[in-house]
Amino acid sequence: MAGGERVVGLSELHAEAVAGVVDRVVALHRRDATKLVQILREVQEACDWISPEAIDRLQVTLGIPRSRIEGVAGFYSFFYTQPRGRYRLLFSDNITDCMLGNRDLRDRLCKSLWVEPGKVSEEGLVSVGMTSCTGLCDQGPALLVNNLAIGRLDVARIDQIAELIRERVPLADWPAEFFAVEDNIRRADILLNCQMAPGDALRAARARAPDEGLLASNMRSWREGLPSGLGGPIAMLDEVKRANLRGRGGAGFTTGLKWEACRNAPLKAGQQRIVVCNADEGEPGTFKDRVLLTRQADLVFEGMTVAAYAIGATQGFLYLRGEYRYLLEALQAVLARRRREGLLGANILGIPGADFDIEIHLGAGAYICGEESALIESLEGKRGTPRNRPPFPVTNGYLDQPTVVNNVETFAAAALIALKGGDWYASIGTRHSAGSKLLSVAGDCARPGIYEYPFGVSVRQVLEDCGAVDVQAVQVSGPSGVCLGPEEFERIIGFEDIPTAGAFTVFNHSRDMFEVARNYVHFFQHESCGFCTPCRVGTSLLKNLMDKLHKGAGSPYDLAEIEKLNQLLQSMSHCGLGHTACNPVLDTMEKFRPAYEKRMMEREFTPAFDLDRALSAARQMTGRDDAGAHFASQPGAEA
Ligand code: SF4
Repeated sequence: MAGGERVVGLSELHAEAVAGVVDRVVALHRRDATKLVQILREVQEACDWISPEAIDRLQVTLGIPRSRIEGVAGFYSFFYTQPRGRYRLLFSDNITDCMLGNRDLRDRLCKSLWVEPGKVSEEGLVSVGMTSCTGLCDQGPALLVNNLAIGRLDVARIDQIAELIRERVPLADWPAEFFAVEDNIRRADILLNCQMAPGDALRAARARAPDEGLLASNMRSWREGLPSGLGGPIAMLDEVKRANLRGRGGAGFTTGLKWEACRNAPLKAGQQRIVVCNADEGEPGTFKDRVLLTRQADLVFEGMTVAAYAIGATQGFLYLRGEYRYLLEALQAVLARRRREGLLGANILGIPGADFDIEIHLGAGAYICGEESALIESLEGKRGTPRNRPPFPVTNGYLDQPTVVNNVETFAAAALIALKGGDWYASIGTRHSAGSKLLSVAGDCARPGIYEYPFGVSVRQVLEDCGAVDVQAVQVSGPSGVCLGPEEFERIIGFEDIPTAGAFTVFNHSRDMFEVARNYVHFFQHESCGFCTPCRVGTSLLKNLMDKLHKGAGSPYDLAEIEKLNQLLQSMSHCGLGHTACNPVLDTMEKFRPAYEKRMMEREFTPAFDLDRALSAARQMTGRDDAGAHFASQPGAEA
């Protein structure tokens, strides 16, 4: 080696390059380990996967145990600790994708590219896998390629994709129409029709102060929170309560009460209040938040800022599901514009001390992070494991600070309430369900897409509007919701009858409702976070039972087992996923029983193993009595 020159090996070069990426990403996040999920995502985006070298470097630069990094990387299904292909395809596996032949299309692509599903092709060019619902049910079958969504897959499009990959065409040069995600707004109402100029809702909220003196004192107190009884923020809070706004994420908790509890929660030294927008809409069949964030992002961010104003928060997060990665840049551009317009950042609307900003946190493919405490864990850079409650996030949320978590649609509604008032909002919908609801309509209908109705619309009306005929069933609110048969189509969408997070999936009579339930059970088993044994094991047992029935090897005994499992999951699971995992099976078993019965071997239980017969040879060899003589000697045996 001349002059002490060192020959650098390829692996060292690789390690150096990875270290450079890790150092850059970690520095961008100020070496903050609570940003671990974002750091891992950005490292993976730059390096294609999270290599052992990357983990080594993260351990050093973040100063946290390797086990924690590996634990987080292993938890999220969009993080990869093994190399993947240059083109990384994930087929959406929601029931509506299945109904449209997603697996046949996947197999065709795999065959064409000489790659096995779930593996990387030999030359490292491509990997093909499956993922849960990608939120494109109105334009499926769909897939994600390197985080970009492609819908309306058919044989021709799959063959084109195979050709583009074989020719190694960069994604930037693929046909633009491949990546056109449609909004498909079929019916708009107060939210989707809203034409509000950015800042109008905030100005209206500010104007609710009873007088300028109070207003000024309120705004100076934004950071500290306010004593109750003052105008401004308190007046805004009262409007939200008067509006009877309830959370749109499914649980339907009263928004005004949640905000008030957060506002009244004491702050410890150095703490602040936090506003989190839950855009992790992972419930299969739901895609309305995608459309709201595409068409009404200002309304959503304005609603978050109104919430911050009402509760005295200074930090906000939008938790965007990883499947919507392609929305990130557009949303960041909206945030940047709002900062330029004085609607975010320091001194909002020019008021000294009115500080609030929003950061986007991208999820990484974990359905459980839609649960608010799991979402907060994820925001803190951890595995998305639901917390014990109480304490609730309103008092002990993000980094133990008082935190409000609401759905995208809830914040959009809050902006509208700030603008038009609580009485106006409460006059829309029904007595128990104020305002409007966005439904994500998909499945067997002529016009899938987004339908916004005032609460109180009947299921039958929605079916008529979307052009559904010969309807056998509607699954409302996804797998954890309710399956309705035709005799229930007069029921209404509303908290007093059918509450929903938004999914409305239609099945005509050609569909096998057993297979629908089986798809949902597979989903729950896949998405169980594994934290508690009843759910981890119970969802696996449930899946096995449904697979056994699918193969025609089930019996009434298995149906009874499913009911027992339901009791176990209901009573022993730690969170809602476990509680609702049996819902789709129980609903379809009750309403579409023939779909189950036709799969059973026999109506009566027949043991798979005949103990008496198995032992008969041994009895003969040992000279013990044969079975007939043995039983003949028992008291009560027939002569
Ligand atoms: Fe995790 Fe399931 Fe337990 Fe919820 S019920 S904490 S998803 S294992």
